[in-house]
Amino acid sequence: MHELSLIQSLLTIIEDNAKEHGFTKVNRVSLSCGRLSAVEPAALEFAFNTLTQTGICAAAQLELEILPLQVYCYDCNREFTSPDSDPTICPDCRGDQVMVTAGLQELQLLELDVD
Ligand SMILES: [Zn+2]
Repeated sequence: MHELSLIQSLLTIIEDNAKEHGFTKVNRVSLSCGRLSAVEPAALEFAFNTLTQTGICAAAQLELEILPLQVYCYDCNREFTSPDSDPTICPDCRGDQVMVTAGLQELQLLELDVD
């Protein structure tokens, strides 16, 4: 499962951080990922709960922010947030020269709340 390896590498980063900054307990982990990334929120949460039974993240809460899809239109030179998960047409000028500029990002660690 894709999400298990994502959480595994995330935990490695958190543990490295813990060693460096000397914290022993993580209260909250905030993550973000793009709407079109391959990350499945429910699977991610399951993986997190499974892999944090013990260790510094045992009591941590997971927060996942899904970043909206941003699309750029070459016809009207504007960027917009797309409600569509597969935008092919500009909602403004109906042009089809659109490019996804954000919303594809893989998992990113935003913030750690620690003790
Ligand atoms: Zn347009």
